[in-house]
Amino acid sequence: MQLKLIEKPVEPEPLKTIESSIAERLEDDNFKWMRPIERNLYKVPNEQKFLSEDQLKDAYSQGGVMNVYPFREDSKVDIPPPVSSFEQAFGSNQAIMNEIKKNGFDKPSPIQAQMWPILLSGQDCIGVSQTGSGKTLAFLLPAFLHIDAQYKQYDANEKKPSPSVLVLSPTRELAQQIEGEVQKYSYNGYKSVCLYGGGSRKEQVDSCKGGIEIVIATPGRLTDLSNDGVISLASVTYVVLDEADRMLDMGFEAAIRRILFEIRPDRLVALTSATWPEGVRKLTDRYTKQAIMAVNGSLDLTVIKSQMTLLQLICFQSCKTVTQFFEFVPHENRFDRVCEIVNFLNTAHGKNYKMIIFVKSKVMADHLSSDFCMKGINSQGLHGGRSQTDRELSLKMLRSGEVQILVATDLASRGIDVPDITHVLNYDFPMDIEEYVHRVGRTGRAGRNGEAMSFMWWNDRSNFEGLISILEKSGQEVPEQLRRDAARYRQKCQDGRDGPRPNFRNKSNKESSFQSSY
Ligand code: AMP
Repeated sequence: MQLKLIEKPVEPEPLKTIESSIAERLEDDNFKWMRPIERNLYKVPNEQKFLSEDQLKDAYSQGGVMNVYPFREDSKVDIPPPVSSFEQAFGSNQAIMNEIKKNGFDKPSPIQAQMWPILLSGQDCIGVSQTGSGKTLAFLLPAFLHIDAQYKQYDANEKKPSPSVLVLSPTRELAQQIEGEVQKYSYNGYKSVCLYGGGSRKEQVDSCKGGIEIVIATPGRLTDLSNDGVISLASVTYVVLDEADRMLDMGFEAAIRRILFEIRPDRLVALTSATWPEGVRKLTDRYTKQAIMAVNGSLDLTVIKSQMTLLQLICFQSCKTVTQFFEFVPHENRFDRVCEIVNFLNTAHGKNYKMIIFVKSKVMADHLSSDFCMKGINSQGLHGGRSQTDRELSLKMLRSGEVQILVATDLASRGIDVPDITHVLNYDFPMDIEEYVHRVGRTGRAGRNGEAMSFMWWNDRSNFEGLISILEKSGQEVPEQLRRDAARYRQKCQDGRDGPRPNFRNKSNKESSFQSSY
């Protein structure tokens, strides 16, 4: 009889938990000298401690419905109740309170009411909310207090970890807008730099010299400067991924991952996004711990959790304040029609309107601007083919009212905050419904009403069904022709005589199409 040697099965190595891999990475020389992060800067105000269920419900629904829940269903995190006043979040900080007063804001916006207590209590937070909902201050004001708390741990003559705060933003325009907010507060003399492609590299390199507390950057330029050793991100303890969906759309995923790998693994993460696609969910899953989601919208939780597009949720917010009109206009008639509309607005409103006209490509934006010029209509253009200085000037002129019409590509469809846009005109219908929602959301902001007009034609047919669904859900009138054409297209698809057109902005080539045409 032969004896068989039975090998003892090798125990599989236990999977590393997020916590254990963080602890391991903190042993790295880059991070070892730094103190643990001071996280909890928030005491739940007494009046918020014992809210009844009804009071809590009221608090959540102030000025808009908020859904708040842990990102991971099984995680046991304490969700702090929303604040109902600025004092509850920042009452102990006179400098911040003074600045808020100067701005004349009445009360925290819904996303602020929820993100402030979460971030101030040191928990990762995902804010799903439109641009224009006050999300910049939602992550910025806690960031100021966060820096204070980290610096307090070091003696005056000790080396302090800097920069402490990193805000990643998809576009230069948005990065500059955020920097504008930082400078407005000039909090504690903390220094910030704004790093973006297209701006002078040398100036940006120089601005990184000396102590900096806050870095606001687009991922591409930041990776470039960090690879060249101009800036080290190891010390960052508070990182913001602003408009994460937009950054992924623009192909920045690899750069974001590289940057996040460089910074302190136990950092606090704040992520904002207007939509909730798969890519953002994965990013959240990979890079946050015990995160809490604060979703600004009126859909119920089960719908959101079943990952129905948050686009529809945004529609409830934006489309209610924007009256939307549609005209079926062939391309050759569009210029005449837009001139009629501009003349009408000039007669009806004089200087009291501002309009963004969206077109599909840089070339089209240039054509339309020069055709306007020939007709004596004053406009400015904004697209990725213009120099940074020109783009900044266009926005400045629109903000100040020096020009009332901006002809833009989808570069302007998200993130750009000019609160008093009264009209949006889709000269070319956008590639997809998501972009439609973002464009329309440029008006009807900050409690105002707006109007949007879209030119469309049969070649936009693949978007008809989605558009109808959005209009119905937000209580807007659906034009008869839109219903008829949607039904005709559906029938043709069923008969195999038509079908979805290739989407040139699908995942694999989004980046190149963005860069080439916007
Ligand atoms: P954002 O979503 O950060 O782009 O903010 C949009 C605009 O809302 C900015 O012009 C802010 O100054 C303004 N804002 C921020 N917080 C408030 C608030 N609590 N009340 C009224 N306006 C606000």
